[in-house]
Formats: sequence, structure tokens, C-alpha cells
Amino acid sequence: MIPAPFEYHAPKTLEEALRLVERHGDEAKLLAGGHSLLPLMKLRLAAPRYVIDIGRLRGMSYIREEDGRIAIGALTTHADIEQSALLAAKCLLLAETAAAIGDAQVRNRGTIGGSLAHADPAADYPAAILALDAELIAATTSGTRTIPAREFFVDMLTTQLHPGEILTQIRVAPRAPRSGAAYAKLHQPASGFALVGVAARVALSPGGKIAEAAVGVTGLGPKAFRAEAVERALIGKSPSEKLLADASRHAGEGVEVLSDLHASREYRREMAAVFARRALAAALARAQARG
Ligand SMILES: Cc1cc2nc3c(=O)[nH]c(=O)nc-3n(C[C@H](O)[C@H](O)[C@H](O)COP(=O)(O)OP(=O)(O)OC[C@H]3O[C@@H](n4cnc5c(N)ncnc54)[C@H](O)[C@@H]3O)c2cc1C
Repeated sequence: MIPAPFEYHAPKTLEEALRLVERHGDEAKLLAGGHSLLPLMKLRLAAPRYVIDIGRLRGMSYIREEDGRIAIGALTTHADIEQSALLAAKCLLLAETAAAIGDAQVRNRGTIGGSLAHADPAADYPAAILALDAELIAATTSGTRTIPAREFFVDMLTTQLHPGEILTQIRVAPRAPRSGAAYAKLHQPASGFALVGVAARVALSPGGKIAEAAVGVTGLGPKAFRAEAVERALIGKSPSEKLLADASRHAGEGVEVLSDLHASREYRREMAAVFARRALAAALARAQARG
């Protein structure tokens, strides 16, 4: 349970951190909240030569409105997201998702940037940021680029981020009129991670039909994904319990469903349908209630 030796750096600015990751490339690991990296290092599943501690950088922990979007700094903790009044009013899905993560200690230390960059197949945020069509901002010494959430997750524990890049910000749109979103999760009882987690967002037309549906799923496959077959089955239809249940049956379509000692492939697939229906029903109720 003791990590392999490493050289520790605690840069004072983002620019300094970027220069360090550029210099050390894939021999370096960023340390944010440490709640994924440190367990891996202690188990020697990760043995970076350089650890670059960005957890102390100032100015990367915030939730604010910018140009009609909500901008969240990568070092914002799950607890700050859970308790944000701005998110409660304008993007409840993200606050609700943060509240479902681990326990109080994990939420107080873990960061949204660390969780997304780590891309654990059972992490909660990926489902939400997919359903929200979020944008992720990655910085290098030569500038920034914007990565759409749908392109961010490449495979298990693998994202679009290159060595030398730091995820700095996540941007989401505030809730639109006649829309609602919700997260429903089946917790793995020991760790709290998602056996299955579904984030759903729906927008209604003035006539009450489903104009837009976005469904992000985590825990089911090697990476989080958008359940497009569920979305297709909903769009343009009048909402009903039967419609939601029928559409939710498609939640595991086209995915290589994981199987482990916690849940078989068949159970996970079944639970994906159950939790998709629950998330969609809650999202729809919010859309109908709030107008
Ligand atoms: C007991 C326990 C229970 C948990 N339960 C859950 C749960 O229910 N749901 C859930 O979603 N998660 C859960 N987690 C994981 C937790 O949310 C972590 O905090 C999160 O996955 C990683 O965030 P971090 O800030 O701790 O990142 P770190 O551990 O510091 O880093 C994780 C990885 O991301 C990289 N990284 C970090 N920040 C950046 C950045 N800004 N740019 C680029 N790369 C970066 C690091 O180099 C590292 O490879 C749990 C963890 C523990 C220990």
C-alpha cells in the first residue's frame, strides 16, 4: 500500500503546471483531489515518475455564469457542485449527480475535472455531462481547445485528453423553458459507484410532445455513452408511462455490457432499462411542472 517513488511538484500557477506536464509528458500524472489517483498509486497500478499537484492552484474552483452558459472550474469539488445555488436553480441535474457520488469525504475532496479525466466506467458525472451536451475545455502551453462531451470519452479510463493537456473548465447550458432533467442511479453498495446510472433530459414542445431527449448512461459499458435508441423512441411522441417504459428497454442497445462480481451482464442490462425509465419519468415531471 506504499506508492512507488515519484518526484512531487506543486506548481503555483496553471501556466507553471502546463509547462511541467509538457516537459514530462506521459511520465507525469496530475493530482487533483487524489481520490482516484492515490488508490491506484498505492496499489501500484499507477507509478508515475512525476506527480504534479494542481489541487492547490487558485482560480480553478468556481461555478459562474459566462456568456449565457454555466462555467465550472475543473478543480470544483463534488460537494461545491452539490451545494451550488446557481446549479440548483439552473442545472439541477449536475447538482443531483454530484450528490449521488460516494460519501461526504469523497465529495469534499474529489473534483469534477479529476472525475471526468479519469473516466472510470462507473463514475457518475459522465452520464450527466453527456445528457447536458456539455463542453470541456482543455489547455496546453499553446492555448485551449473545446471538446464536446460526446467526443470526450474514448474507452475505459481513456479520454480525448493528451499528455500535456489539463482540463480546465466544463461548460453547460442552463435549463431551457419546458425542459427538465434528472439522474437515477443504482449504487454499488460497497463503493457507492454506479452499477448503472442514467441522466435524462427532456424538452417539451408547446403542445406537450417530447421535442428533445438526451439520455447519458454510465456503469453499463466500458465508457459512458448516449443511449440514442432511447432518444429516437421518444422524440416527437406524446409522453406516457408506456412510452417511457418501451423506450427505456433500448438503454443497453449497441453496448458491450460489463459483467463482474457485483452484477451480471443480464442484471445490468435489465437495471439500465429500469433506471432509464425512472430518470426519464423524473425529468418529464420536472419539465411539466416548471413550464
Ligand atoms: C471510496 C470512494 C468512493 C467513490 N465513489 C464514487 C462514486 O460513487 N461515483 C463517482 O463518480 N466517483 C466515485 N469515486 C471517485 C471520486 O469521485 C474521485 O474523486 C474522482 O474520480 C477523481 O477526482 P479527483 O479530483 O480525486 O482526481 P485525482 O484522483 O486527483 O485524479 C484522477 C485522474 O485524473 C487526472 N486529472 C485530475 N485532474 C485533471 C485535470 N484537471 N486535467 C487532466 N487530468 C486530470 C489525474 O492525473 C488522474 O489520472 C469514489 C472514490 C473513492 C475513493
